[in-house]
Amino acid sequence: MIVAMKPEADALDIEAVIQRATQFGCRVHRSQGEERVILGILAEARQLPSTDAFEALPNVERVVRISTPYKLVSRQYQPWSSEVAVNGARFGAGGFPIIAGPCSVESEVQIFETARFLRDAGIPLLRGGAFKPRTSPYDFQGLGEEGLRLMRRAADENGLGVVTELLSEADLPAVAAYADLIQIGARNMQNFALLKAAGASRKPVLLKRGLSATIQEFLLAAEYIAAQGNLRIILCERGIRTFDTSLRNTFDLAGVALLRELTHLPVIVDPSHATGKRSLIAPVTRAAVALGADGAIVEMHPHPEQALSDGAQSLNFEEFSNLQRTLAPYIALREAERRQETSAMAAAVA
Ligand code: PEP
Ligand code: MN
Repeated sequence: MIVAMKPEADALDIEAVIQRATQFGCRVHRSQGEERVILGILAEARQLPSTDAFEALPNVERVVRISTPYKLVSRQYQPWSSEVAVNGARFGAGGFPIIAGPCSVESEVQIFETARFLRDAGIPLLRGGAFKPRTSPYDFQGLGEEGLRLMRRAADENGLGVVTELLSEADLPAVAAYADLIQIGARNMQNFALLKAAGASRKPVLLKRGLSATIQEFLLAAEYIAAQGNLRIILCERGIRTFDTSLRNTFDLAGVALLRELTHLPVIVDPSHATGKRSLIAPVTRAAVALGADGAIVEMHPHPEQALSDGAQSLNFEEFSNLQRTLAPYIALREAERRQETSAMAAAVA
């Protein structure tokens, strides 16, 4: 259940709620909005106390039971959108930051060329896999720690943040040391031990939707990370398996819109894995901007035809610049609409 405090509640009022929850053996998660504090009361395996236990406490505005199985990540728990900031890129703050880079880190030349290009293009976050979840054990598995080191150097020299996949718990110390945003890939979305470890790492986490995961399973996976006290989570729709095999996956556009209703966490899209097809990256990303997605992660490579993984869905530098150019008016339109809404709301309050 959630306990929303009145805006005038002070530290003592909040402490009283926390103490009452502790008496019932519950855990409390605190979230600070612009105007008020919201306390999540988590019963874990126990029975939740009745709402009256909190309603009578001073400066409690309302007490609501959360009806969904995921709690901390739900919009019932926190009605305002969460912002997750990584290296200056603000996800969930109304803009549309892009994470870009190759599927895999392949060589020093490749990753440095990409990082320099991104710096000049104004992109703040470099992606690249060092530990790769390949379908075949005979395909390129990534450069491992050497890949992390190369990517970190390329990013540092160009003022970028590093986004990279954590494939197994054993790699967590290395990945956490080099990454600014830890990616949990689609194939590991329900690796609960990995989710717990990533949550405990205190690093922001980019959680990709599983190949066959329902929206509820996706949100419950995010709840595993949140339950460790880490709410710096960005969700990513990257396409799901359906009967249709014309594309690599089926991009669930409505799922993105639904997620934004159900959760306060930022939701970004991965048009590269969603389609598997270079020519569809721009139209899919434009659609994502239009429906309110909080950003994108896009694969690009200095020479996609030579890529060791996912070349067919990777943009070259020129194609990436074209993508940025065609997105700009859509992003500007969305920002103008937002400004109008904000001033209409301010006028209604005055
Ligand atoms: C990737 O980002 O390169 C990747 C492997 O993505 P996914 O987990 O979505 O397949
Ligand atoms: Mn890839």
